[in-house]
Amino acid sequence: MHCSHCGVCCEKTEMMLSNADIERLEKLSHDRQEFVRYDRHGFARLKNRHELCVFYDVEKCRCQIYRHRPLGCRIYPVIYSEQEGIVVDDLCPTQTTISKRELKREGKKLMELLKRIDNEARAREALYACIG
Ligand code: SF4
Ligand code: SF4
Repeated sequence: MHCSHCGVCCEKTEMMLSNADIERLEKLSHDRQEFVRYDRHGFARLKNRHELCVFYDVEKCRCQIYRHRPLGCRIYPVIYSEQEGIVVDDLCPTQTTISKRELKREGKKLMELLKRIDNEARAREALYACIG
C-alpha cells in the first residue's frame, strides 16, 4: 500500500480507539480528554478540531503521532462495511495500491480489532450502569 499522506482520512474522523491505543498515547503524555470522545454506544473515538483529527498537524500536513497512531489508522484504508464486509475505502486516493494479500491480512486484523473494541465498549457500559 502506498500512502500519499494526503490527510483525507484525518478529516472529520470517526476512528474508533481500543484501550491499548488510548493507553499508548497516554504514555506519550497525551491526556485522554484531549483526544478521546465516547459516542452514545460507549465506543471511544478520536476527537476532531476544526473538522480534522486533533492529531493532524495542519502546517506540516502530517499526523503528529504517525509512529504511534491508533491501529485503526494503520489498517485504513481497509474498513468494515455493514453491507459488503471487509473492503477498501474508496475515499482514499491510493486505494488501488492495496494488494489482495494486504486486504486479506489487514481485514483479519480489523475484525480482531473491532471485536476487541466491541468487548471494551460493552464492559464500559456495564461499569457505567453499575456506578449509575
Ligand atoms: S486517505 Fe489514503 S493516501 Fe490519504 S493519508 Fe489516508 S491512507 Fe494515506
Ligand atoms: S491519528 Fe493520525 S492518522 Fe489517525 S486520523 Fe488522526 S491524524 Fe490521521
